[in-house]
Amino acid sequence: MHEAGFNRRGFLRFTAGALGAIIVAPQLVMSNALAQSASSGRVVTAEAAALRVLAKARESVTYGSRGVGGLIMENRTGRVIAEGRNRRYRPVALPLRTIPDEVLTWDYTAHGETGLMKWYFANRRKLRLPDPADLTVVTTLDPCAMCTGSILAAGFSVATVALDPTGGMNTDGSGAYTTLPPRLRREAKGASGLYAIEQQRAYLGPADLPLRDTAVTGATADACSSVFFGAPSRSLNPFDDIPVENLIDPRSLGAGSAFRERTRMTWPHAFSIRLADPRRPTAALRRFLEELNRATPGSTNAVAFIDPFGNLLSASADHPERGPIATAFMNTTQAYARTRYALFNEAATHEDAKRTLTAPRAGVFVWLYAPTPGLATTIKDLGAYGSTIGRPAPGSFQYFLPPRDGTIGNLMEQIAALPPFYTQTVTIEPVQVGSVTAARAVRLPRSTEPVPYPAYP
Ligand SMILES: [Zn+2]
Repeated sequence: MHEAGFNRRGFLRFTAGALGAIIVAPQLVMSNALAQSASSGRVVTAEAAALRVLAKARESVTYGSRGVGGLIMENRTGRVIAEGRNRRYRPVALPLRTIPDEVLTWDYTAHGETGLMKWYFANRRKLRLPDPADLTVVTTLDPCAMCTGSILAAGFSVATVALDPTGGMNTDGSGAYTTLPPRLRREAKGASGLYAIEQQRAYLGPADLPLRDTAVTGATADACSSVFFGAPSRSLNPFDDIPVENLIDPRSLGAGSAFRERTRMTWPHAFSIRLADPRRPTAALRRFLEELNRATPGSTNAVAFIDPFGNLLSASADHPERGPIATAFMNTTQAYARTRYALFNEAATHEDAKRTLTAPRAGVFVWLYAPTPGLATTIKDLGAYGSTIGRPAPGSFQYFLPPRDGTIGNLMEQIAALPPFYTQTVTIEPVQVGSVTAARAVRLPRSTEPVPYPAYP
């Protein structure tokens, strides 16, 4: 009886919950709901679970993103309560397409597993979902830093089919999780397993992971790997590489424009602060973040996104009422990307969005406090920053104050231990700004050209 109304309610509730404070166009609501929803049925073998998540991974590729799929199952029964997939890119609305199959970045952080965690906390109470301790995420590919942090922070177990030696936290496949700080290493070992592959690999993981006594076939395991590595994203998003010199300041569009009207609805703080030098945050920005953090119940941090013209666009505090993964950085980067997608994808704002908004790597994320080392949510935020930026962007990660607990040295150690994608491809370099002593303050140039690697104590 419960399950009869489950799909329909899950579908509707997911739509409302996933959007959070972000208002989007109707066509976006539709595609969002269709992309990830509550599910049903049971899986009773690792192979059956792997085939289901593989089908979701293939869907990711069909819609322009790299192939990763996942599901949430109930440990005791194998009941599948939700399915998700990578949704980083989405098709451009047909009338606005300049090339066939054109896609736009929807949300740099919309990986399958993190999406499932978001879905869970948006629906937990309404659908009376089981506790995270009774649920396991099954995924095609070893989760990245963001997804591992999300899963650990949420308290789920996770079962993986294929490994990812570049971005997966079980980088070497040994299950040692040396990519994590020691306390989280223990948690990850107790909650993460690699399913056995017939005639190739024994099961590796905790003794209580569901379906651990069954194996995935070699063909299915290979497909889970090649759907990601063999079919790279079409990456036909030309707007992520528009040089800043070719953009105009969105402030110049005028307060009455459709663009400004829409941004007011979705980025309530937009244009309230302007920095003369976009890379040198002012005391006014710090006061704004302190106030945002103070005024938000349960928040411990706040983050602002500054565009290359120095305009404050999106900003958020932590929103623990939306679950442990709704941290200030996550909320801020999602709000920027999803609203940017919506503005690109609507006829009334498309041209102005094209002239004013570029990839977040060209702007600056300013944290009130540097992330606290040792927390699962910090691993999640470092991973989300890596996924947002995607390549080196010196000076794009700034903070006013040291971590609330632990030291910057601890945080840097944690960053240095991350998989190669974060240490070699992206390089994550938090920089203190507005510092208490001039000696520690880092002077950053105006341009987005690479700056020297800042020294840390
Ligand atoms: Zn991920």
